[in-house]
Amino acid sequence: MAFAIDPPAQPIVPVAGGDPFPVRRIYCVGRNYAAHAREMGHDPDREPPFFFMKPADAVTPDGSEIDYPPATADLHHEIELVVALSAGGADIAEAEALEHVFGYAVGLDMTRRDLQGEAKSKGRPWDTGKGFDQSAPIGAIRPAAEIGHPGSGRIWLSVNEGSRQDSDLSHMIWNIPETIAYLSGLFRLCPGDLIFTGTPEGVAAVGPGDRLDGGVDGVGTLSVRYRA
Ligand code: MN
Repeated sequence: MAFAIDPPAQPIVPVAGGDPFPVRRIYCVGRNYAAHAREMGHDPDREPPFFFMKPADAVTPDGSEIDYPPATADLHHEIELVVALSAGGADIAEAEALEHVFGYAVGLDMTRRDLQGEAKSKGRPWDTGKGFDQSAPIGAIRPAAEIGHPGSGRIWLSVNEGSRQDSDLSHMIWNIPETIAYLSGLFRLCPGDLIFTGTPEGVAAVGPGDRLDGGVDGVGTLSVRYRA
């Protein structure tokens, strides 16, 4: 098929031991750990989950050297478990949700917190705070057929070898089946969708020259560095 211009590259995420995973959309859950909701000034009682999106081409591979993004003086790390879907649908039942999962990865929901804060205070969209270039570093996907479906396990991040975030997946307010079921009532999910499942407490700023190392026990690790 001919196109008016060269078609953009298909964003991909490597799969451990397999062919790469093509990314269609990136959905992200807001405030899914109570202690993080509190540190951001919110009451973590179970209000319905809410979502925002990043562009598919924000994915950035493990091991990358990343330019510190423009237009911010407060770039924050958010270490998260990422769910990769192999099947889609609308109104997916919780009991069937995990059948739609291809695998899991470790991701960073990098956030220009100053721009996000300005958007919140003015009632504006979050895109400039959340959906900027290279805002979604992600490690290799591990297939659920090999590792199962993690419901608990340590999730952690260090910056320059100093601990910043250290929690457990079991502290999620909305677990993975609940998140897939709820999200599929808002959007028809499709193969190739990624879901960032929220970050635990301890978010803080990173600067040029910083090295970020994170992981989720049983899933994998992720390391990126910001250029000095
Ligand atoms: Mn997040």
